Parts: sequence; structure tokens; C-alpha cells
Amino acid sequence: FMGALLTGCSGDYSSAPDNPSRVTEHKVDSVLGLMTLEEKIGQMVLYNGSWDVTGPATGTDDRKKLEKLKKGYVGGMLNVTSVKNTREAQRLVMEHSRLKIPLIFGYDVIHGYRTMFPVPLGESSSWDTALMEKTASVAAREAAAAGINWTFAPMMDVSRDARWGRIMEGAGEDPYLNTRIAVARIKGFQGDDLSDPATIAACAKHFAGYGFAEAGRDYNTVNIGMHELHNTILPPFKAAAAAGVATFMSSFNDIDGIPASADRYLQREILKEEWQWKGFNVSDWGAIAELIPHGVAGDKVRASELAVRAGIDMDMEGGAYEENLAGLLKDHKIPESVIDDAVKRILRVKFNLGLFDDPYRYSNEEREKKELYTVENREVALEAARKSIVLLKNQDHILPLHEKSGTIAVIGPLADDKDSPLGNWRAQADPGSAVSVLEGIRNHAPASCTVTYAKGADLATGARNFLSPLHINTDDTSGFAEALSLAGKADVVILVVGEDAFQSGEGRSQADIRFAGVQQQLIDAVHRINKNTVMVLMNGRPMNISESSGSMKAILETWFLGTEHGNAVGEVLFGKYNPAGKLPVSFPHSVGQSPLYYNRKPTGRPEGGEQVTYSHYNDTPNEALFPFGFGLSYTHFAYGNIRQDRDTFGPGEKINVTVTVTNTGKMAGAEVVQLYLHDEVASLTRPVKMLKAFEKIYLEPGEAKTVNFVIDEQMLSFYTINRKWEAEPGRFKLFIGGNSVDTDMTAFEFKSEQ
Ligand code: BGC
Repeated sequence: FMGALLTGCSGDYSSAPDNPSRVTEHKVDSVLGLMTLEEKIGQMVLYNGSWDVTGPATGTDDRKKLEKLKKGYVGGMLNVTSVKNTREAQRLVMEHSRLKIPLIFGYDVIHGYRTMFPVPLGESSSWDTALMEKTASVAAREAAAAGINWTFAPMMDVSRDARWGRIMEGAGEDPYLNTRIAVARIKGFQGDDLSDPATIAACAKHFAGYGFAEAGRDYNTVNIGMHELHNTILPPFKAAAAAGVATFMSSFNDIDGIPASADRYLQREILKEEWQWKGFNVSDWGAIAELIPHGVAGDKVRASELAVRAGIDMDMEGGAYEENLAGLLKDHKIPESVIDDAVKRILRVKFNLGLFDDPYRYSNEEREKKELYTVENREVALEAARKSIVLLKNQDHILPLHEKSGTIAVIGPLADDKDSPLGNWRAQADPGSAVSVLEGIRNHAPASCTVTYAKGADLATGARNFLSPLHINTDDTSGFAEALSLAGKADVVILVVGEDAFQSGEGRSQADIRFAGVQQQLIDAVHRINKNTVMVLMNGRPMNISESSGSMKAILETWFLGTEHGNAVGEVLFGKYNPAGKLPVSFPHSVGQSPLYYNRKPTGRPEGGEQVTYSHYNDTPNEALFPFGFGLSYTHFAYGNIRQDRDTFGPGEKINVTVTVTNTGKMAGAEVVQLYLHDEVASLTRPVKMLKAFEKIYLEPGEAKTVNFVIDEQMLSFYTINRKWEAEPGRFKLFIGGNSVDTDMTAFEFKSEQ
């Protein structure tokens, strides 16, 4: 029932006495009625608790937190992991507090808890929403077994700037793909209604605009117009609200001068009023107190006032609400109704999680022992890893390798790295627990092949955690000689290069997205000696690989694929799995093209002609090196003529479009059939192409399938010059193909009375 409850569309409560939403609302109201002001404010406080709650509290801060817990002045905790710790924190509340309102336990379960799946950007390359629902549900199952009942995921920030380190946490540059994936992940985390104790509350983040940080520098200012905000950034969030996501998180950035955590238009008017969303809205870490350095509040009192008025219901580790809300109320700066609304939202989610029925519902040692890092979960991790690999180039069909491939030299700083495949935001994964590419190659190479290995060079050193900086090796080439000697003797070289896991993620922006350290030198040196070189890329962002993309025989984009990274790569290299991933982001020729995205606006200066006065660079193409939606296969897919059952339609009507796709090669494989639209004349400039539908199909050799798409009014609608969502009459171009560039085209007209 939570979906219905949270979207506010559960209908007439009064005529349905057994309506569970109505029952919950009654319970929420009656608990609220019992609460003192201090207890209410307490619910709006989220504490960090990464200390051992079961041990003696040592620091003053920890002691203060323990006392607050016992009084019932804390709503939830984040970063408390393990059943032992969550149970203990919950016990303190249950045994000491007056009202025994259970805590909620949040954690960044971004791409797995102990078993790691591909980083979100990588997994988005699968374009397989059923898969992403499945991996989210496995991550939820593991986290729930370890005491967690709330994840700060999925991130649905549309991001188009490869310099931004957090591009790795989302689904890339397209609003529609982000929307489909966000909804799938929410379903995976939350299940139908959170009634299953193996599901956890999800969080739509970061609301909003965080991915548009100027120049890709994390936390930086965002400038985006109102129409673009609604058409590009908000769609995934709107869909998340409609799908009943339990929580939202406000972002760190400002938009046009207003920091998101103080933005009443976003957090209250759009989210809570227009979208009628009923969950609770948490600030990002310390984001309320950050209103001070942002320069819109002089102190925490004012910061709290701005945030609570804007509609932020819970303060994540900022100390703003707990210190100031009571005073603000006393001074009549805020009405109590604002606090009551926030508390009701928080209680509602706790009821939906079943915490009032059993506060220890997520603290089961048996489950914790049984559910984590199981063989079944690793199977899902392997499936996700395989499906996320993108084949970017395959000259002379060098791949797949086979029994006669001879000696294979595996070279590169990331080749035997068992840690980087886990990616950043790795929750409780054991460090170094991934299958390395080298191990995967050894597991899958035919007995007739010889596998040799040399690292060649280090990429980075430094503590492997969220906060510590990395030190890149920029001068040590002492390992080159051994690597080059193996390369010289090999029939094929597999060169494993890219990024360390901690080069992307929060606070990991880069102004240069080429290979860091001595990698380019190593690539060049290996290629001089052996032309049969296959590049296996590992990275969390689109990189600029243009210095070597021309010379490599094949390029495999593998991102950070998680626990089973190496096995998935091994299967693809040796043809046991036919790669089918498609890029969710454009790969640039140069960092200077950033932000680069396929769904750009047309300019008033169309390309072409002899003159230089059109929108372009003198030194770099406008296009991507590898475009959005692109990815090769070991087989070939032919697209047949597009057919549509009519050329014109009006409100309430629709057009059926079909396309026939044939596998003309010798290997079975999957293809993502993509449909794009262009609105030729509209009240606003519209993107040159917009992804509007896709379907992933599987075809045996020689097999053909007809894919059917339905075009309706809703698909054409956008946030128009009238500042509302509507479809405008006019002509549309329709493109279908296997990526955003190579498409077949037709056209149709949408007619409307107005
Ligand atoms: C990040 C959030 C994350 C939170 C809690 C913040 O720094 O921006 O995405 O959920 O920390 O760890």
C-alpha cells in the first residue's frame, strides 16, 4: 500500500475502513498527538553513528549522542552497520525513551552491500531495467539482513560532464534513461510496499541539479533555466515520487543563487504540493549548516529557519535542527504545523517499514549470517557485470579470443587489481575481494593458450577509502621493461588501464580525463611492440582515450564491475558471453567538449558550408568519439524499414511504430533497440534528438524480431513556454537504431484542436 499512500492516490479513505493507508494515517496522528516538542524535533535529527555503539562511548560527541538516543531525541542514524550495532542503538531507544519511537538506519547502499554490483553508471550500460531491479533487491536483502532499513540511493542526477567524479553514481546524460533506471532501482530496493523485511526504503537524490555543477567541480554552483530544470533534471525525480519512493535528499548546490536545501520552490512547492508526495525529505550531509558558507544565512538559527520552511524534514548530521528549531518556534519564526508535517512524514515511513510493529525487524543475526555474500548473490553480480560491458571497437574481429589465440600477455596497472573493481561507495565490501581481470582471464582462457602477466607500472597509492586523497605515480617506469618483453613475445596483448576506483566518486572531480600517471607512455610503448593490443578500460567516468583509440585493435569498456569483474571480462574476451552494453554517456575527443551530450539543442547556426561562423571548435569535432547509446556486439544486427500505422494523430490517439531487427551474424546476442524523437518547431528550442523508448531484445543467429513502440501524446509532451507539461501540435521526426547516431528516420504529425 505504500506506493498508493505515498503518491497520495489511494482514493477515498473514509469509505474504506480497512484501507491500510488510512489506518497508518490514524496511527501517525495518534503518535504525533503524544509527542512533546523536543520529541518531535528529535525525529528530525539524523546522527552519524560510525562508532561502535556497543562499546563505551569515548568522545564527548558520542556521549552526547548516546544521551540523546536514550531520551528519544534522535530520529535515525546513518553509517551504523551490523545487526549488533543497530540492535544496540535501537535497544537504547526502546528501553530508555518515553515513547519508544524506533530509529531508522540509513546507509549508502549504492551498488551493493557486501556483494558488489557494477557502479551505477556501469550497470546503466546494460539498459536492462529488470536486471537493475534485481541487483537493487539483492543489495536491499543484504543490507536489510545487516540491520539497515534505508539506503541513500538511487542517485538520479542527469550528468553530462565527465569531469564530475559523481557521474559514476548515476545513469548518465539522458533524462529518459535516468527515469527508467531510477524507477527500476526504487522498485528493487522497496519491493511493492516495504512490507517484506528484505526490502528497504529508497532515497531519490540529489534534489536537485547537483549533476550540473559548473565545470564539473563537485559542490559547485549550478545555473540552469526554469524550462531546462523541468525538462531535463526533474523528470526522474517526478517519476520517483510517483513510484512511491520513501525519501528524497536535497542537494548541496545552489541553483541560480538559491541553495537547494533552502529552496522552497523545489522542496515544498514542486515536491510536496505539486507532486503530492508524502514521504520525508532529508538534507544531504550537513547541507543545512552549509547554508552559512553558501552565504544565505548568517548562523545556524537562520539556516534552520530557511531549511525547515523550504521543506527539509530531517537534518543529516548538521546539528542545525536540534539546536535551533525550538527557539525558532518560541520566537514565532516558524509555525508548529511545519514541524508536525515533517514529523508525520518521518513516522509514516517508519510505520511502512514495519518498525512500530517490531523495532528489531531488521536486526536478525540469523539473517545476517545467511544472506550476505552468498553464492546466489555472486551469481547475480556476475550476470550484472557481464551485461554492463560495452565493446567500443573490434577491428579485424580480434575478439573474441579462442583456442588458437596463442600467448596472451596481460599487462597494466589495473590488470591484477582486486580492489578497484569494487568501485567507490563500496559499503561493506571486503577490500580486495573482487576477481581481477587477470584471474578472470586465467579462469576462462582455453587450455591451449598461455597467459603471461606483468603490471608494467603502478597507477595510484594511498589509503583506500572515501576521504583520503590518492597519489598518482607520475614517474616510475621501472616495470616497463618486463612488460614490454612479454608484449614482444605475445600473440595478443590485453592492456588493462583506466582509473583507480577512487579517482571517481564524491569530491573526485578532474580537469584532465586522460589516462593518469605513466599509463599513456605504457600504452604507446606496448603498442609499438605489439599491434595486436586489446585495451580493457576500467573507469567511473567517460575518459578521453582519443590518443590511443585509433591504434588499439579492440576496446572493451568495463567500468568498475564489482565482485565478479574479472570473470565477466574473461567470459567476454573468450566469447562465452556476447557483449551487449550501450553507453549511457558520450565519450569525448577532448575534455574541452565538456559538457558533451547527444541531446543538445540546435543553434541558430547550422553546420556546414565554407564559412567558420557556425557553432564549432577549430581543433576538435562537435561529435562524441563514442556516442550515447553506442556499443558493438560479436554479431551484427540489421534494422529493417520502420513502419508506422498512420502519419497523423491527435489527443487521445496513438501511432504504432514497428521495426524489424535481424541478427545477421553467427553468434546469438542482445541488442538495445532505441527510439528517438525530434520536435521540429515548438514554443521552446527542443533537443536535436531525445530518447523516448527502448527495448532490449535477444536474437539467435539468423533470427528476426519485430519491435513495437507506441507514440502517444504523453511522449510528446514537455514543460512548455506556458510553464506546464503539454504536447504541442506539429511535425516530429522519429529515429530508430542501435545508438543515437546511426538511425533510420521517418516523420509524423501531431494535430490538436487548439
Ligand atoms: C553525499 C550523499 C550521501 C551522504 C551520506 C554525502 O556526502 O553527498 O550522497 O548519501 O553523504 O553518506
